[in-house]
Amino acid sequence: METGIIYTPLFQNHENYPECPDRVKVTAQYLIKNDIKMFTEPRVFDESWIQQVHTPEYINNIITTGSVDYSDIHYEHALKSAFGCLTAGEMLIQDEAQNAFVLNRPPGHHTYADRGGGFCYLNNAAILARYLQMHGMEKIMIIDWDAHHGNGTESIFYDDPSVLYTSIHQSPLYPGTGEIQDTGVGQGEGYTINIPVPPGTGHNSYMKIFSEIILPAGKQFHPDAVVISAGQDSHKKDPLSSLCLCSGSYYTMTRQILTSITPNVIGVLEGGYNLASLPVSVHAIVTALQKKEYTGGIEKVNEPDGIMQIIKSVKSTHPNWW
Ligand SMILES: [Zn+2]
Repeated sequence: METGIIYTPLFQNHENYPECPDRVKVTAQYLIKNDIKMFTEPRVFDESWIQQVHTPEYINNIITTGSVDYSDIHYEHALKSAFGCLTAGEMLIQDEAQNAFVLNRPPGHHTYADRGGGFCYLNNAAILARYLQMHGMEKIMIIDWDAHHGNGTESIFYDDPSVLYTSIHQSPLYPGTGEIQDTGVGQGEGYTINIPVPPGTGHNSYMKIFSEIILPAGKQFHPDAVVISAGQDSHKKDPLSSLCLCSGSYYTMTRQILTSITPNVIGVLEGGYNLASLPVSVHAIVTALQKKEYTGGIEKVNEPDGIMQIIKSVKSTHPNWW
């Protein structure tokens, strides 16, 4: 198996509009329609993997109250989503797959060690990163292209130089974090790279950000694996952001990560709320992971000025990476 795709209909069991069950249901259907039919079910793991990232108090709070501060959840549903990510990690470690995509929900990147937020309960990407590290992949790069800043993921690795956290996100937008000058602390100083972009930013600007920041930093960091916090709410049709990517943008970014940083790539679903564009965008990512040609093309848009200024500011804030 070349590309592992981790999915179960059980990912539909948790209701939380607009982070709704149909997101993964219609995406799975679209993949099947496009001859991607081999799904791997999430396996069962020891729950101690969750404790590598989250405090016992927070875990206990979800279990006993079935709730964090904004909406209800059955702990098993959050656990299933995280186990989907660990399954992808296990497949990579055991050479069952060259790379993988996890079509899971609920998402995770807004979850801190001790609190959830923004439809997120357990930080799937962070739990996966720790799992990979405990299996010999010492350096992990997280590339978060969700429209919203991954405040939880940033916080979990803020003082940790073994995980390079990078995020391209719309600003201003929920959760209001992710400033350029937020670069990490202590040993982790310089290992958080935030790239806030204005509403209207699209494919061309993301390509510049990739060639000027993400790819050079990735090459220098030389990670053992990349985890993509793949939130396709940065698509131009998404109702939760004003960014302007197209499905071909996700194909191109995934391909560039594979060819320029490392072949060891796991994509983890974060946001993406337009039920028409999300399936096409996920299919584009999977197509890149499978090293197939993508025929969807690129839809160019008129973009706001100033992206070179943002890139310059990020580079001068992080002099050690170039
Ligand atoms: Zn998002």
